[in-house]
Amino acid sequence: MPHSNIIRNMKRGLLIIMSGPSGVGKGTVRLELVKDKKLNLFYSVSMTTRSPRPGEKDGSDYYFVSHEEFDKQIDDGNLLEWAEFVGNKYGTPKDKVEAKRNEGKNVLLEIEVKGTGQVLSKLQGDKDVISIFIAPPSIEELERRIRGRSTEPDEVIKKRLARCKAELELKSQYEYIVVNDDLAECVEEVKKIILSRMK
Ligand code: ADP
Ligand code: 5GP
Repeated sequence: MPHSNIIRNMKRGLLIIMSGPSGVGKGTVRLELVKDKKLNLFYSVSMTTRSPRPGEKDGSDYYFVSHEEFDKQIDDGNLLEWAEFVGNKYGTPKDKVEAKRNEGKNVLLEIEVKGTGQVLSKLQGDKDVISIFIAPPSIEELERRIRGRSTEPDEVIKKRLARCKAELELKSQYEYIVVNDDLAECVEEVKKIILSRMK
C-alpha cells in the first residue's frame, strides 16, 4: 500500500442548545429528534440535584446527584455551565460535549436560559453553535401542559410558571424561536433548522 499523506478532515459537530419554559414540550420534542438518525445527535445528559420523577433513569434522563456532589463538580471545573432552577441545580458535564463534537456528532443540550447565556459567551465566535427557543402558543396552554404532566406538586408548578416570564424575556438571545403548538410541526421546524446548519 502506498503511504498516503491525506488525512480525512472530519467536520466538528454542531452544538445545539434548546430551551424554553418548563412544560412547553422540550423533552417531548427532544425524544422525537433523537429518533431521526439523519440528525446525527448526541444528547448531553445533564447533572441535577432534583429527585427523579417516576420512570426517570439515572444516566439517561439526568445524572441525579446530591448538592455536595454537584458543588464538587463546580469546584473541579467539570461543568460547561450550570444554573439554579426552582430550588435545584442543573449543569452540563463538559467532557462529553467536547469529545462528541470532535467525533463529528451534533451535541444537543436541553438547558434553561441562564445556562444558555453562559454557553453563548464561552463559545462566542463558534459558528457551529445553534440556539433554539421553544415557545408556548399561550401561557394558558403552558399551564395546561405542566399541570397535565402531573409530575410536580402545586407549589412547584406555581414557581415554575412564575419563572416563565423571565425566561420569555430572555428569548431574544436565541437565534431561532419555534412555537410548539402542533407537536409534529414544531419537530419538523427544529429538524429543518438543524439540517440546514449541517450543510
Ligand atoms: P418540558 O420538557 O419542556 O418541561 P414536556 O416535554 O415534559 O415539557 O411536556 C409537557 C407536557 O406537554 C407533556 O405532558 C407533553 O406530553 C405535553 N406536550 C408536549 N408538546 C405538546 C403539544 N405540542 N401539544 C400538546 N401537548 C404537548
Ligand atoms: P426539569 O426539572 O423540568 O427536568 O428541568 C428544569 C429546567 O432545567 C428546564 O428548563 C431544563 O431545560 C433545565 N435544565 C436541564 N438540564 C440543565 C442543565 O444542564 N443546565 C441548565 N442550565 N439547565 C438545565
